[in-house]
Formats: sequence, C-alpha cells, structure tokens
Amino acid sequence: MSKKDYYEVLGVNRDASDEEIKKAYRKLAMKHHPDRNPDNPKAEEHFKEAKEAYETLSDGQKRAAYDQYGHAAFEAGGMGGGAGGAGAAGFDFSDIFGDIFGGARGSGGRSNVHRGADLRYNMEITLEQAARGTETQIRVPTMAECETCKGTGAKPGTSPATCTTCGGHGQVRMQQGFFSIQQTCPRCHGTGKMIASPCKDCSGSGRIKQHKTLSVKIPAGVDNDDRIRLSGEGEHGVNGGPPGDLYVVIHTKPHAVFQRDHNDLHCEMPISFSTAALGGEIEIPTLDGAARIKIPPETQSGKQFRLRGKGIKGVRSSSYGDLHCHVIVETPVNLTERQKELLREFETINSDDSGHHNPRAKSWMNKVKDFFGQ
Ligand SMILES: [Zn+2]
Ligand SMILES: [Zn+2]
Repeated sequence: MSKKDYYEVLGVNRDASDEEIKKAYRKLAMKHHPDRNPDNPKAEEHFKEAKEAYETLSDGQKRAAYDQYGHAAFEAGGMGGGAGGAGAAGFDFSDIFGDIFGGARGSGGRSNVHRGADLRYNMEITLEQAARGTETQIRVPTMAECETCKGTGAKPGTSPATCTTCGGHGQVRMQQGFFSIQQTCPRCHGTGKMIASPCKDCSGSGRIKQHKTLSVKIPAGVDNDDRIRLSGEGEHGVNGGPPGDLYVVIHTKPHAVFQRDHNDLHCEMPISFSTAALGGEIEIPTLDGAARIKIPPETQSGKQFRLRGKGIKGVRSSSYGDLHCHVIVETPVNLTERQKELLREFETINSDDSGHHNPRAKSWMNKVKDFFGQ
C-alpha cells in the first residue's frame, strides 16, 4: 500500500502551519477540481489525493497520528464495514489518539489470510546522532493474544458458537440479478463465529493492545527521510498471515549552529569589524571539537572558509563532507562615547576620494553616478 506522503501531496513542509496547509489545499483543489477538468481522470485523482491529505492534516489529532505512524495509522483502523479486508484485526490506536477511529472495532479476523500492514515510526534525532549513529529503543503498540480468553474472544467458561448466518464460513452468497456474489458475512464479520458473552478484557476481539520495546540501530550518516526497516515488526498478519514491516523514518532536529546540506555542513561565523580589517584567529565549533581558523586581514562579509573533511560521512558515501563557515562582519552595537569618538576620528582619516580604503564603495558610487548621468 504505497500511498503518497500527505505533506508531499500538498507541497508543504512537515512543520507547515494550519493556515499554510489550508492555502496549499485550496490552490490544488482549484487547479484539479473535476468541474474545471472534465473527463480528466488524472486531475480527478489529484483532487482526491489533495482532499484526503487535507482532511487528515487539517485535523490536529489525525495529523499527530499521521506524523507518528504514517498511513498505517489509518489503514489499520478502517474497519467495521466492507473495507478491502486488509488490516481487519488491526492495531487499536484509539487509546492513544482518542476517538479518531470512532471506536469502530471489528470482531477479529476475516476468513482470508492477509499479510499485516507495514507501520511507520517517525524518529527525531539530533544532528550529532545522525552524524555518528546511535542505538536507541522505541516503544510501539502491538496487539497480542488475550490471555483471559486465549484469543477466542469468549468469556472464560463459554465458547464461541458457529455463526448461524453463514454457517461458519465467514462468507455469504447473495443473489443480485443474474449474479451470485460472495460477501463477508455481516453478522460475524468473517470470523464464522458468534460470541454470546464476550470476554471483558478484550471486548470479544481476542486481542489486547500492548507495547513492545524494540532496539533500533541508527547507522552513522543517516539523513532526513532515510528509512530503517525492522523486518516483521509491523502489524500482525490476519488469520495466520505474515506480519508487516516496521519502518523507522528519520527526522533530524534543527541544530543551533550547523545546517546540513547532504554531507556538507554550513555555519555562520560572525566576526568583529576590527578582526575583519586587521585579521586574527578565531575558534569555531566542529562536530569533533573546536578548530581554529585564521582570518586574513581585509576579510569581507560573505567570505566562506572551507574546512575539508569536517562535514558528515553519509551512509552510502566513502568520504566525509566539508564544513563551510560563512563570515558575517558584525557592525558593533551599544557603543560608548569613547568608541564613537574613535570611530568618528577613524572615519575622518578613512575617507578620501581615491577609494583607496573602500574600493567597493567607490566603484559602487561610480556606477550610481553613471546611472544618473545617462
Ligand atoms: Zn479476551
Ligand atoms: Zn457469519
């Protein structure tokens, strides 16, 4: 079930505000609305996708569920009716997320065997953890056989009776015109059993929600949206089907100093006006400790210094990226009278018409003069 990411569908960032989401949706809805695109199945599909994405992301609770578990959050819960069968014995997230799924719980598995749905777990890590790798534990909800009723769903001492509507097949045949169609039995929801007195602990489902703790090894160099697959740790299979997989999706928290661009890191490096003019040495942070950078005299704002190999070694790359430090010359603030006096004096001897000390300002002035002269 590979559905498109809702954020991608709307073309917004994961931290987009409600307003941004609404705006993005409106724009897409206008563009792809079936009335404007008659006989265009592609447009209709886009329209539906956008609508579905908006309905989820505009609802705070659904959005939270989606952020944590992805599409699996909803696939697993959508039962109670003739939904395609998958995930019928699904996760019960309702305790965690309130009544998103309206408490519509089915009564166990269907007569068909299905592989369990894949689940998604969004994991936030720091840039340092992404760079060096880490091992961490996550707690994920899981459904386990109810011990009270041994999974039958019937109160201890009683046992489930065979469904009288379908005779235990879980399916019923219905005549519709010339056709005979097979349907999931509406009475037993495909289990073939009827439970007169349901087990109190599992409300007759035969399963109860538990949490399991999994150890996840995050390899060094992972980047945003990288996925780590935990084979077989997804949702349980239905009626003996194999379990799905659990995907841990990486999100890196913003860092106070560095911005990552693939394997390179970037940082700002504010230096004082006098250091910029006279040169000097300053200490800068790198992921493996402090380093010193020599600032040559007459360094201008915007200059970049590159520290080779001080970036990140990507999961699939063989070498480290670089660290780029962007110089920002800081205009001094909160000046004392004495400082102002010195700067005024400096300005007097600094300004001369030749542009000897300020070639950039001089050349700019000349261009401005030419411009007005035309
Ligand atoms: Zn039970
Ligand atoms: Zn039945």
